[in-house]
Amino acid sequence: MNITIIGIGLIGGSMAMSLRGFRTHIIGVDTNPEHCKKALQRGIVDEIQPIEKAIKNTSLIILAVPVNAAKEILPAILDNIEEKTIVVDMGSTKKGICRKVEKHPKRQQYVASHPIAGTENSGPEAAFSSLFKGKKTIICEKQLSSPEALKLIIKMYDLLEMEIIYMQAEEHDRHIAYVSHLSHISSFSLGKTVLEIEKDEKNIFNMAGSGFASTARLAKSSPSMWYPIFEQNKESLTKALDSYIENLMQFRNAIAENDKEKLIAMMTKANNIRKVLEGINKTFN
Ligand code: NAP
Repeated sequence: MNITIIGIGLIGGSMAMSLRGFRTHIIGVDTNPEHCKKALQRGIVDEIQPIEKAIKNTSLIILAVPVNAAKEILPAILDNIEEKTIVVDMGSTKKGICRKVEKHPKRQQYVASHPIAGTENSGPEAAFSSLFKGKKTIICEKQLSSPEALKLIIKMYDLLEMEIIYMQAEEHDRHIAYVSHLSHISSFSLGKTVLEIEKDEKNIFNMAGSGFASTARLAKSSPSMWYPIFEQNKESLTKALDSYIENLMQFRNAIAENDKEKLIAMMTKANNIRKVLEGINKTFN
């Protein structure tokens, strides 16, 4: 089976590696020549082709480029594919891309999805084959995809050992703003704040324990991947940020006013996150 992967970075490269061994021939497409070279060197893809050729004579197209690029190129991909070809995207926002193609005559050949798996690293060097195993993935607006398209994508996610959750695109973007996008902004602003306040980088290096390292990990993420996500999820994300800023102010004021009771009450409430996260870990183990 020919599979075309457009965008052979962390997600596209990991998809390619995970789908190896299932009698697949993987064709890579990427606008970054260095990434094409690396993907071939690492054996992530079998060959590189220009997009016009790669979307012909292929059973499955996996679109794994930043969400602004995906929204831009998906209509043209659908315009030019054969009847039997199915397209799935990996984008972290769903409303923009779903609205863009909802009236497209070949909408049925497309499945909107978002695997909830990733790291702070990007490019084909960051790709690894176990990235998706045991994680969840979201499929949006399944009623707009054909049964054949859905069947193939469900089979793909089954092979990757992922659990599928179905929802509408708006619902996806609203929930993901809180659990993923807000965490990234929080980490970016922590990294920025500490770099601005702590002028001597040696102090950060010497004194930052694992708490700082784990909280600031996401601040290493690629701006070119994240800027379009923030842009496309502006509405939900600004609401999430308003609540977050309100909470930061409550902590700030309780500390400034030596309000021990309030501080302890706020931290005790936040401790409940342990139960929720332990539930998630149990699901994955
Ligand atoms: P990545 O590592 O930066 O890979 C994206 C690749 O696509 C890069 O090689 C990039 O080249 C290339 N590219 C950009 N525009 C292109 C175009 N028009 N045509 C062909 N190639 C193009 O990013 P990623 O982390 O794999 O993310 C890919 C998608 O997965 C995004 O939509 C993201 O929202 C989604 N996603 C990411 C994560 C995560 O944690 N990273 C998790 C789930 C879903 P340049 O580097 O030169 O731009």
